[in-house]
Amino acid sequence: MAINLQDFHRGDPCPLLSNYMPNSASQTVDGDSDASMEDQENGWEDVNMGFVGDRMRFVDVTGIFLRRVRWCCCPGKDGNLVSPDLQLLDAWIYPATSDKPTTAFTFNVLEEFALDSLECKTAALTFLSKLRRMTNPMIPLSTPNVYPAFMRCYRQYQNLKNLLWAGIAHDSEHARTSGDLVLFCVICPQIGKNVSVEEMEASNNP
Ligand SMILES: [Zn+2]
Ligand SMILES: [Zn+2]
Repeated sequence: MAINLQDFHRGDPCPLLSNYMPNSASQTVDGDSDASMEDQENGWEDVNMGFVGDRMRFVDVTGIFLRRVRWCCCPGKDGNLVSPDLQLLDAWIYPATSDKPTTAFTFNVLEEFALDSLECKTAALTFLSKLRRMTNPMIPLSTPNVYPAFMRCYRQYQNLKNLLWAGIAHDSEHARTSGDLVLFCVICPQIGKNVSVEEMEASNNP
């Protein structure tokens, strides 16, 4: 099974796929040793013959899977190829690294963990153990441990969400300062909004 990015081609491979430069770094998926064992079991090398694209590890609410990815090689707005990490984000998948991603988390799994940790007090380690067991119920430990990458991506994802909620995610005109994420408090005195300078001075010198 191969995943075709991006949606412009309605699930078909990109017609400009021949422009693709293979990503040699993706031959080892995040350097974990069980990848090669997994590949042999799945007959990965056979399937990979003549395939143009990369292989990646995807973490979803249904488990952890190796999948082949065909990138879209159409020029973007600036005339260059759209980088793989941006293509993944476009497909609602969060890449573990921005340069040559080999592991990625679906937005669904990040949202699921946010709910589980909030309501069920689930720790990330146990949440990932569940995913490993779902992937391989007999030998859960044969599924790679993606804990470090998961924690990093989850924190980044939450930070991006906080920025969106605060309305400063796309605010490139002025530099962000500390305290930008704090909610505006209507009760505290805010000069020019609910109190004047004179009133503030009067309250300081009763
Ligand atoms: Zn394309
Ligand atoms: Zn306040």
